[in-house]
Amino acid sequence: MFEPTTPRTQARTNRIGRHLPTSGGLKKTLRLAREQGLETIQIFVSNPQGWAVPAPLTDAGAFIEGAREIGLDPVVVHAKYLINLASPDAEHRERSARALAAELVAAGSLGAALVVVHSGSHAGSGEEKGMERLVEGLVRARELAPEEAGADGVAKLAEPLVENSVGAGTQLCSTFDALAWVAERAGVRVCVDTAHAYVAGHDLSTPEGARRVASELGGTLGERMALLHLNDPRNGLGSHRDGHERIGEGHVSREAWAEFFRGVPGVPAVMETPYATPETDAEQVRLVKELAGGLSLSR
Ligand SMILES: [Zn+2]
Ligand SMILES: [Zn+2]
Repeated sequence: MFEPTTPRTQARTNRIGRHLPTSGGLKKTLRLAREQGLETIQIFVSNPQGWAVPAPLTDAGAFIEGAREIGLDPVVVHAKYLINLASPDAEHRERSARALAAELVAAGSLGAALVVVHSGSHAGSGEEKGMERLVEGLVRARELAPEEAGADGVAKLAEPLVENSVGAGTQLCSTFDALAWVAERAGVRVCVDTAHAYVAGHDLSTPEGARRVASELGGTLGERMALLHLNDPRNGLGSHRDGHERIGEGHVSREAWAEFFRGVPGVPAVMETPYATPETDAEQVRLVKELAGGLSLSR
């Protein structure tokens, strides 16, 4: 009988990118993306630490065109850190939903498909209440978005992704189960931050651990996993303290990263790691591509 031989190596399926600054203008952002060999990027469209709404963009058309030329897909926006859709304070909740709606519009007008938003915290009002509010807030933000877009509208609104937390204090969704609960009820997909997962207690630091965590992700979130925030944890397992190191410089071994990638095929990965020199940053991207299965992307 003829037995087809399984190929020993498979082409890489995870698109690799990183968060890039926009301070020098979007043209510069695209230049950095090209120089570093990125296949996906994440940016802010407003000050993440303030409530000011995203400023109208004059060079959106050129950015969309440039991103397409480089092949950046997806383009991701990270929403404001101030947003807390789970807040017990009704005013803060509404402000958060409006702010997220504005980001969905601004991202959409830039051709960005995804907006990552933190799961927020219940601030002492209880986890169950907090999670219900978070679900309502995600629904509300999407309802508000067309209104935020105004009369001119936007070609396509971006899709919100809810991100797992480190589980500090009253933060929600530090477990994959909680994240899945919220995502299912709100009808949204998720972003999984590997550093957050680790400090929240998911041990992916060894090849066996990484295999287990990836399979847990597949089982609990599966198709809902739209993005990875690919960060090497600076702090200890279960410490609930955030901190991002460059890949290979935190608690997760290189072998573990390679194993982890095998368990999450096709999920794009965006690093939010410290910037260094352009050369070192490009080198880091190459390393991650190698760990994810090789320099060339499968078609
Ligand atoms: Zn985040
Ligand atoms: Zn983080």
